[in-house]
Amino acid sequence: SPAPSLPDTIAAVATAPGRGGIGVVRVSGAALAPFARALTGRLPEPRHAAFTPFVDAGGKPIDEGILLYFPAPHSFTGEDVIELQGHGGPVVLQLVLARCLELGARLAEPGEFSRRAFLNGKMDLAQAEAVADLIEASTVAAARSAVRSLSGAFSDEMHRLTDALIDLRMLVEATLDFPDEDVEFLENARALERLDAIRVKLEGVLERARQGALLRSGMNVVLVGQPNVGKSSLLNCLAGDERAIVTDIAGTTRDAVRETIAIEGIPIHVIDTAGLRETADPVERLGVERTWREIARADVILRIVDARVGPQPGDEAIDAALPEGVERITIFNKIDLCGLEPARLQRDDGVAIHLSAQLGLGVDLLRSELLRVAGWHAHGDDVVLARERHLVALREALTHVVAARSQCGALELFAEELRLAQVSIGEITGEFSSDDLLGVIFSRFCIGK
Ligand code: GDP
Ligand code: ZN
Repeated sequence: SPAPSLPDTIAAVATAPGRGGIGVVRVSGAALAPFARALTGRLPEPRHAAFTPFVDAGGKPIDEGILLYFPAPHSFTGEDVIELQGHGGPVVLQLVLARCLELGARLAEPGEFSRRAFLNGKMDLAQAEAVADLIEASTVAAARSAVRSLSGAFSDEMHRLTDALIDLRMLVEATLDFPDEDVEFLENARALERLDAIRVKLEGVLERARQGALLRSGMNVVLVGQPNVGKSSLLNCLAGDERAIVTDIAGTTRDAVRETIAIEGIPIHVIDTAGLRETADPVERLGVERTWREIARADVILRIVDARVGPQPGDEAIDAALPEGVERITIFNKIDLCGLEPARLQRDDGVAIHLSAQLGLGVDLLRSELLRVAGWHAHGDDVVLARERHLVALREALTHVVAARSQCGALELFAEELRLAQVSIGEITGEFSSDDLLGVIFSRFCIGK
C-alpha cells in the first residue's frame, strides 16, 4: 500500500498588511524542526520563545526576532507550526516569507490554516467561522458574541441538540424492530414530549441566531434630505460614544458615502444621499451611481426635514425613486426652533419622529424605532453570532422536527425526519459538510488565517 501522504508545508504573513512594530509569518506542516533549524541555525525548543536571527541560504541574517515552535498536535492547526515574529515591515516580511518558500513551503491559500485546524479536529466549523467573525467584528457586542462562539458556546448547544436527536432516534429505531408495539412504546417513552422539547429548544436557538445575524451584518439605513436639515448632526448624535469602525466605500471622492455607527451594538450602515444631485462631473457621477446601488439594499429610509418648513419639492423626487416596500421614517428635525416636543407619531406614510439633533432631544425615540424595525429585542450574552448558512440549517432542522411530529403514526417516517434534522444541525458544526461547502467558507477568510 502507498505511504500515507504528509500534508505539504504552507506559509503566509499572518499580520495585517502595512507597517507595524511586529510582523508574523506563520508556517504549518509536518516535521518542521529541520525547517526551523535551516532558518535559525539551531533546533527549536517546543513552545519556548527563542530570540534568533532568521538567515538566508548563505547564513546571512534577513531579520531577527522570536521563533516559536509548536510541535503537532499541540498547535493551532494540529500540525507542526512555526511562528516567526520579526519586524513588521512589508519588505522584510516578504523576505522572510520568500525564505520559507525556498525551504519548501508553499503560499497558504485564504483560510487554509483554519481549514487544517478544522480537518484535524482542533475546532469545528462554527468555531472556525467565529475566528473570522471575531476578526471582522465591527462593534464590541459583535466581537463579544464571536468570542463566545469561538470558545464553543454555540457548538455545545448544537451538540446537545444532536445528542437529544440521537437518543430519540435510537429509541424509535429500536421500536421499529417490534412493529406491534409502535404506538404504546413511544407513549411509554414519552417520545413526543421529548420531540416537543427539542422543537422548543430549536426555536429558541433560531431566534437568538436571528438576532445574532443582525449583530453580525447590521442594517442599512439611507439618509435623505435637503442640505442643512441636519443629517450630519443627526448621524453624530445617533452614533454617540458608539461610533463604530468607519467603512468608506473605496474610491469615493470627497465625503464618505457610507458610514457605520452602532446602536446597542448593532452595526447601522448609514448611507448619506447628500451627493445625489444631478451632476456633470464624471467622478462625482460614479459616486452617485454607487450611492444608488447602496440605496437598493436599504432596510430603512430616514427622510429628514426641517420641522419649521416640512418636506420640500426636491425630497419627493428622491423619495419617488426609492425602492418600494422599504420602511420609511420621517424625521422632523430642529424642533427646538419651533417649540415642538419630542414625539413618535404613527402617520399614513409611516412613523414620524419629532426631534432635535442639535440638543439630542427625541433621538432615543429614533434609536428605539430603528431597533424595532430591525427586529432587535435580544439582550447581551444570549445572542448567537450566526451566519446565514446557520439560519438556513436551523430552519431546516426545525422543519424536519415539525414534520416528525405529524408522522408519529408512521415510525419509519418519524425516524427519517429525525435523521434529517440531525444532518441539518451537523452542517453547522461541520460534521456533515461537503468539500464544496468547506471551500466556500474558508476561501472567504483572509490569507494567513
Ligand atoms: P446637513 O447638511 O443636513 O448634514 O446638516 P448639518 O447637520 O450640517 O446641520 C446644518 C445646520 O443646522 C448646522 O448649523 C447645525 O448646527 C444646525 N442644526 C442641526 N440640527 C439642529 C437642531 O436640531 N436644532 C438647531 N437649532 N440647529 C440644528
Ligand atoms: Zn452634512
